[in-house]
Amino acid sequence: VRARVMEVTQSPEVEYEDIGGLEDQLQEVRETVEMPMKKPGMFDDVGIEPPSGVLLHGPPGTGKTMLAKAVANQTDATFIKMAGSELVHKFIGEGAKLVRDLFEVAREHEPAVIFIDEIDAIAAKRTESKTSGDAEVQRTMMQLLSEMDGFEERGEIRIIAATNRFDMLDRAILRPGRFDRLIEVPKPDEEGRELIFQIHTRGMNVADDVEFDSLAAEADEASGADVKAICTEAGMFAIRDDRTEIRMEDFQNAWEKVQASSDETEDVSK
Ligand code: ATP
Repeated sequence: VRARVMEVTQSPEVEYEDIGGLEDQLQEVRETVEMPMKKPGMFDDVGIEPPSGVLLHGPPGTGKTMLAKAVANQTDATFIKMAGSELVHKFIGEGAKLVRDLFEVAREHEPAVIFIDEIDAIAAKRTESKTSGDAEVQRTMMQLLSEMDGFEERGEIRIIAATNRFDMLDRAILRPGRFDRLIEVPKPDEEGRELIFQIHTRGMNVADDVEFDSLAAEADEASGADVKAICTEAGMFAIRDDRTEIRMEDFQNAWEKVQASSDETEDVSK
């Protein structure tokens, strides 16, 4: 069970330069996660505790997982990821045990960054979720809180959680000593989108007529994940046309396609 729900990666291959925009968020993650791992003595000397847990919140596909992976890479830490939804929906009755395993694996692999995605699945307000009244979900959350209370903050294990549903969270997990540092990760602005286009086309054969600034302006509302999808789709349009060079029109067609498919998924989720 452990192997199927936990993704364990040694120094994941994401660099800070792979993240477009999010300068302030990156800075905060570095101060709150990287610094305590690299220079624990600094916090001692200053006489403050580093934050216990960091919570990244914002819409899907904006780079939350990337931020967590990049900081694990930068600190040569093992990256251990688990999704809240899997903890409670996939292995019913195993949630609390999986949380214990998660911290045990982290201790075996120090230094380690624990990343809990979709934390809302185990930490939703009672009133807002059908499942949160569930005793199993409550036990899973209590186990997480007690693991966090129980360990030495300045150790070699850092915890990052992420959610797209900040409004749904039980405030108990945001208390001091728990996820006491909140970092909002918004959708990129126009400048951010341009940077993300540049990042994802680094290895691509892009024609001279392609203007990332105007693509960034056109693709408003696109998340980082959408921009990545546009780049891949643009390449597909070129291939379909038997070309190896990707033109401006390919990117424009790709944006239309990505937009259409995200409208569809929104309709389905309604
Ligand atoms: P979710 O909430 O859906 O789990 P997330 O915020 O964790 O999403 P990521 O998994 O980090 O999003 O992003 C998905 C993919 O989108 C990344 O692998 C990356 O290719 C691309 N991406 C998203 N945001 C950015 C960004 N700011 N810069 C570069 N690429 C990005």
